[in-house]
Amino acid sequence: VKSRRWILALDVGGTNMTAGLFHDEVGEPLVLRSRSTPVAEGVGAVVARGVALLDEVRKEAEGAGVPPDRIVGAGIGVPGAVDPTRGIVSRAPNLAWNDVPIRDRFQEALGLPVVVDNDANCAALGEWWAGAGRGSRLMVGATLGTGIGGGIVREGRVLRGVTGSAGEIGHMTIQLDGRSCSCGNRGCLEAYASGTAIAQRAREALEEQRIRHREGGDPNRAGRPDDVDSPLPDHVGSTLSEDAGSILDSMVDGRWEELTAAHVSRAAGAGDELARAIMAETARYLGAGLAGLVNVLNPDRIVLTGGVALAGDLLLEPVRRHVRRQAFPSAAEACVIALARSPEGAGVRGAALTFRREVLEGHR
Ligand SMILES: [Zn+2]
Repeated sequence: VKSRRWILALDVGGTNMTAGLFHDEVGEPLVLRSRSTPVAEGVGAVVARGVALLDEVRKEAEGAGVPPDRIVGAGIGVPGAVDPTRGIVSRAPNLAWNDVPIRDRFQEALGLPVVVDNDANCAALGEWWAGAGRGSRLMVGATLGTGIGGGIVREGRVLRGVTGSAGEIGHMTIQLDGRSCSCGNRGCLEAYASGTAIAQRAREALEEQRIRHREGGDPNRAGRPDDVDSPLPDHVGSTLSEDAGSILDSMVDGRWEELTAAHVSRAAGAGDELARAIMAETARYLGAGLAGLVNVLNPDRIVLTGGVALAGDLLLEPVRRHVRRQAFPSAAEACVIALARSPEGAGVRGAALTFRREVLEGHR
């Protein structure tokens, strides 16, 4: 009789955490639970909530007939730089963690062996196991969220590089002396095409539009009492279609600081010109970055995941076009660019497979 082994998994995000239980040979969870991440309360609170969530999952699995001694360990995905050998999160800006020995803390609390990895590596592996990366020999997973993460999966294993940081595709320079990035460098892909960057570029475009309106003196704009320039005749304003005013402004009641990439993609979907221009530009940045990866790695699959990927075809189609135009033709032709099957579940699934690979199979 084949032994049945079960693996706990936890994907710690900057907003929510998801826990699940997986059979070691099945990419679908038996139990799945989500809860918010208490980032502001510090590492201890996050670990405590993660452990509580995993305990809930354990209890529910027991109720479903999984013997507790068949649960062999846990895989954990964390958004940040992880040293998987020592189980230490060296830097996780979204959680405000520095040098946290996260593996030992979870091991002690759970009484089980634990493996920790970067969340984008986990998401890539999860999509390879039971998602849009299935059957791929060389896959790049691009997580487009608050930042841009990446994971490279070769023959079902995460390519880690010499010190474990391989796959950081968000920090490829796409613009010399460009926008400041969270990593301290300038011009990184993440500084242009992450959710944060999309929202920021939208705010800047709105500001430019407002200045144009002031200079153009459009008399129809409400709430601009300092609009003192002499207005252009009506017919002039109406021919400047890009100056028609964006619905992004009304979507957040003029509170631009609340704008997110989701607003921009929704407005673009509704035909808003300013939002469409932002999304088209985003696709160019992503296309440039991914075309470089296609030329360097010659992968057969690129899987886009994370919140920004929820924009769907609005982003996917132009990204495909830019990659086809910029990458070597044979390499571009061999590479399928697809959206993740489960942008939310890939990380927790990949965390489970990471445990299987590293502990049950003994691979690094
Ligand atoms: Zn960077």
